[in-house]
Amino acid sequence: MLKRYLLAPGPTPVPPEALQAMAMPIIHHRAPDFVPVLDSAKKGLQWLYQTKNDVLMLCSTGTGGMVGAVNNFLSPGDDVLVVNGGKFGERWTNICQAYGMKVEEIAVEWGYAVKPEQVEAALKKNPAIKAVFVQANETSTGVYHDVKTLAGIVKKTDALFVVDGISALVAHDIKTDEWGIDVMIGGSQKGVMLPPGLAFVSVNDKAWKAADTAKTPKFYFNFKKERESLAKNQTNFTSAVTLIIGLNTCLTMLQEEGLENVFARHAKLARATRAAASALGLNLFPKENPSNALTAIEAPAGVDGQLIYKNLREKYGITGAGGQAQLKGKIFRIAHLGYAGVFDVITAVAGMEMVLKELGHPVKLGAGLAAAEEVLMK
Ligand SMILES: *Cc1c(COP(=O)(O)O)cnc(C)c1O
Repeated sequence: MLKRYLLAPGPTPVPPEALQAMAMPIIHHRAPDFVPVLDSAKKGLQWLYQTKNDVLMLCSTGTGGMVGAVNNFLSPGDDVLVVNGGKFGERWTNICQAYGMKVEEIAVEWGYAVKPEQVEAALKKNPAIKAVFVQANETSTGVYHDVKTLAGIVKKTDALFVVDGISALVAHDIKTDEWGIDVMIGGSQKGVMLPPGLAFVSVNDKAWKAADTAKTPKFYFNFKKERESLAKNQTNFTSAVTLIIGLNTCLTMLQEEGLENVFARHAKLARATRAAASALGLNLFPKENPSNALTAIEAPAGVDGQLIYKNLREKYGITGAGGQAQLKGKIFRIAHLGYAGVFDVITAVAGMEMVLKELGHPVKLGAGLAAAEEVLMK
């Protein structure tokens, strides 16, 4: 037997409390027993999102929420601005193009965050831009984009600010209403500690107004219908009953910890992981704004990053992530997201040390651990 540790940036581990809650018999999504369940999830999500507005619950992965955000607020031919700083930024472009929008991209070098002035300049140059799409965390590079500053810029225009917060939610303090994020997408298998299968989308008044005139054809992801259903504590189609029951358990756990503590925990786990990497002589892939959800680490010269990922997994049971697209073989990624604590970082760092030493990188065993422990004890 090989004991397994899931330290990937999604799916993430599910707490036993939630697994147990999700083992309960299915209840019917139109029966009265489901009403308090959905009502509680709805309020819990508003708390997590720091919003007074609707947070829709869709039975899909996170990408479904992204697709819905494109087809509910825009029309074919609309000008949109996409911040593309990695695999997930690219996804915004692909979705927008699939629905016939005219995409202008800000191509951000992988490993860097977008410069807010670039977004400001693009909006000034083309006042017809109807929406700006960005990731909070670009999961493929481990970079956090400064959505607070970006929101302040887009807010002054008629454009909608649409944030893919799928991997950032829970790990970063994102003040949806206060900052003026019009639409933000979340997903169940990341910070909220659930299995895959739910997407969340917050929508404010500015966005609902745009929905009134949006002409993109849609059927499954019809946000106005979802909003009407949500007001009755239902979803438009069959609810992901099991996941929503689990969601309540996870949201209660996060509420008991307190939002500030949740963010501080993620920040500390991230700092410890980064300190360990540096102590082992490794470079972080992000050149600025490293994410609190995951740490992307460059493979040392002469060592294949895919092999680090593979050996961690096959020899030691630690499932992290490799690099995507052009980063394949160049980096490996360790998540500290959701149901994550001190000894997840210790496990990851110990595994890293052993695997790197075995691959011939000069490692002083325990050096990374010592650096991580110093941070974790503070
Ligand atoms: C995980 C992730 C997604 C969603 O992927 P799905 O497989 O559709 O759940 C989207 N954006 C980011 C930034 C992610 O990390």
